[in-house]
Amino acid sequence: MTAPRLEIDLNKIHHNARTLVERLAERGISVTGVTKATLGSPNIAGALLSAGVSGLGDSRIENIESMRRAHVTASMSLIRSPMPSQAERVVAHADTSFNSELDVISKLSSAAKNAGRTHGVVLMVELGDLREGIMPGELENTVRETLRFPNIAFQGIGANLACWNGVAPDAKNMGELSALADSIDRTFGPIVSIVSGGNSANLEWALSGADTGRINNLRLGESILLGREPLRRQPIEGLYTDAFQLVAEVIESKVKPSKPWGTTGQNAFGEKPSVIDRGQITQTLLAIGRQDTDPSGLRPPPGIGILGASSDHLITDTSGARLPIGTEVPFQLNYSALVRAMSSPFVTQVVKGREWVKPGMTVPFEATSEIRAIR
Ligand SMILES: *Cc1c(COP(=O)(O)O)cnc(C)c1O
Repeated sequence: MTAPRLEIDLNKIHHNARTLVERLAERGISVTGVTKATLGSPNIAGALLSAGVSGLGDSRIENIESMRRAHVTASMSLIRSPMPSQAERVVAHADTSFNSELDVISKLSSAAKNAGRTHGVVLMVELGDLREGIMPGELENTVRETLRFPNIAFQGIGANLACWNGVAPDAKNMGELSALADSIDRTFGPIVSIVSGGNSANLEWALSGADTGRINNLRLGESILLGREPLRRQPIEGLYTDAFQLVAEVIESKVKPSKPWGTTGQNAFGEKPSVIDRGQITQTLLAIGRQDTDPSGLRPPPGIGILGASSDHLITDTSGARLPIGTEVPFQLNYSALVRAMSSPFVTQVVKGREWVKPGMTVPFEATSEIRAIR
């Protein structure tokens, strides 16, 4: 089979999603399945939906549009603030978007009016990680303005932590989000139906037994797809960490000195690597590089160490083992490596497992073939 290829196990993704949906349901929290790392793959969307996620979320309208083209009929949220230039596309394909600017909501309102639709709005609140969000002191005013826009339905509030400054979700910031929901309801009547507490980094807090207050939704991507929590990147108990594997092929296998010789300058990437002389090593080259994935996010099998990567070559030390040319080596991926591999035109995707399609959701492929290349 061709390489490099990303092998995607839908059964493992389904299991991970189902497990998290069940654990969070006990805490009164629904799961929005975040599809951005999968570029809106309809197969993966089907696995998430049949596992019981309440809807899908993506940061890019292009991905939402491709799921719509594949007839995925779930409720979909655009989880990055819409670009004003895409307002028409957003109201046409997403049911809801996450917002922090009234200028954007105004554009969405006009676009929704022209399209004869109602668009849902969740307002994002800044809780300290300093990426997106309205400062808490300005929330009430923003809600008041949002409620005035025609064809806009205010649905609730949300927050996002641990993405930029690594601020962890905890009882204090989640308590603040709950208190804000209560305060809006006191001022405007019971209008806050969604309180979306955050992403995979919220799992530890949500499952710790702490009071989850008004938080009734989390948006989960990495934990479902990779089976790890993002604060310490530890495996989550009971989940698969190998639903995705990136397979690369050996193209050179030689015993070489570990120390370069000649006069050294910068390498192809403007770096000047310093190399310790470890004597002779078995150096193995794989045909995969920075154009295919984020090589620093690959986890090799035992016995293989990654020395570095250029655009097209992964340079490894195979601890004395001389891997035959053509050997296929499977790697696990972190989120960054996964996103890059999913987006690279050089990486073939191979989907394994059952086609998990929710009743009512039609996917225009022939069903249940065990392994099927989709690209
Ligand atoms: C990416 C993203 C998520 C999902 O994050 P994971 O860590 O993959 O669970 C949730 N919310 C927002 C706003 C995002 O951008």
